[in-house]
Amino acid sequence: MTKTDWQQINPKHLLLQRIHEKGGWVNSHTHIDRSYIINWKNWDKIGDPLHIKWDHPDEFKSKVSVDTIVGHMTQVIENQLEQGVQAIGSFIDCDSIVKDKNLKAADIIKARFKGQIEIKFIHQPIKGLMDETERKWFEEAASFVDIIGGLPERDSKIKIGVDRKAEHLDILFTTAKKHGKPLHVHVDQYNDPAQRDTELLADKTKEYGYKSMVSAVHSISLAAQPKDYREKVYKKLVEQDITVIACPSAWIDSRRNEILAPSHNSVTPLDEMIPAGVRVALGTDDIADIYKPYSDGDMWTELRFLLEATHTYDMDVLADIATTNGRKALFLD
Ligand SMILES: [Zn+2]
Repeated sequence: MTKTDWQQINPKHLLLQRIHEKGGWVNSHTHIDRSYIINWKNWDKIGDPLHIKWDHPDEFKSKVSVDTIVGHMTQVIENQLEQGVQAIGSFIDCDSIVKDKNLKAADIIKARFKGQIEIKFIHQPIKGLMDETERKWFEEAASFVDIIGGLPERDSKIKIGVDRKAEHLDILFTTAKKHGKPLHVHVDQYNDPAQRDTELLADKTKEYGYKSMVSAVHSISLAAQPKDYREKVYKKLVEQDITVIACPSAWIDSRRNEILAPSHNSVTPLDEMIPAGVRVALGTDDIADIYKPYSDGDMWTELRFLLEATHTYDMDVLADIATTNGRKALFLD
C-alpha cells in the first residue's frame, strides 16, 4: 500500500527520530526529590499560591526516610529511561527540615543508574538564604551537588516582606565560585512585568566574571516586557553565554490578572530568543507533586507545548533544544 503524503512526512515521528539520533532527550530541569508525593492528604493544597506551596512538602520531608526518597527518585529515572532520556538535571532540597536525606538518596541513585543516564544534582534553597541555619544547610549541600542552585524569589518581598533577591544572588555566585561549580537559577517565574530577574542574573554573571557558567530556569516574565527591554536582555544573555531552560507546562497555568502587558503566551519567549542567538533547553519541572499533580514527566508533551506556544516548527531547532542545548545547560560538554 502506498503511503499518504502525511505518512511520508509524519513530523512528530521525524522529530523524535532526530532526537534519538542526537543521543536522546535531555531533561534540563526537574525536582525528583518531591516527585510522586501527591496523595489524598495533600490533594486539597494544589490550589494554593506558589509561595505558600513552597512550604507544603515540609510534613513529607520531615518524616520521609532515605529509602522512600530513593523509591520516588527511582520511579522518575525509570520513567525517563523509558522515553530515551540521556541526561537529567534535578534540583533537590537540602534544608533544616529534610536535612541531608536527599543528598544521601542522590548518592544511591547516581550509583544505581551509573552508565544508563547522566544525572546532575542541583541544590534548591527552598527556605531562602537569609536565615543562618538554612545557610548552613546550603553550604553543606554546596560541596555535594554538581551545580549550585538558586531561587531568588524565595527572598523577595512577596515571601519575606523585603526584597533581598540581589543578596540571594550574591551568595549563590560567591558559593559557586568558591566551589568552582556552575549555577542554575530560577528567575522570572510569574509572567509579571514587575519582575526583572533575568536581567539581574545576567548582570550578576558579568559582575562576578562567571560567563558560560550559568543557566537560567524559566525567564517567563521577560515575555511580558516591552520589546526594546526584551531585546536588551537577550543581548545580555548572549554576551554572558547563559542557557535558558524552558518548562512550558509548568507555567502555562499563569493566573488571569488585570496587569497590562504585550500580548503573549506564558512561556519562555523562544520565538524571539532563537533568532537573537539565545540558547534554549527543555525541562519538565515538577512531576506528580502538589505543584503539578497531573504531570507524568513526558518530554514530548513539553516540547509540543513549547513549539505550539511559540510557533516554532523548525525540526533542527527543536531537536537541538531537546538534546544538545540541554547538555550545554547541564554543563555536560
Ligand atoms: Zn523548578
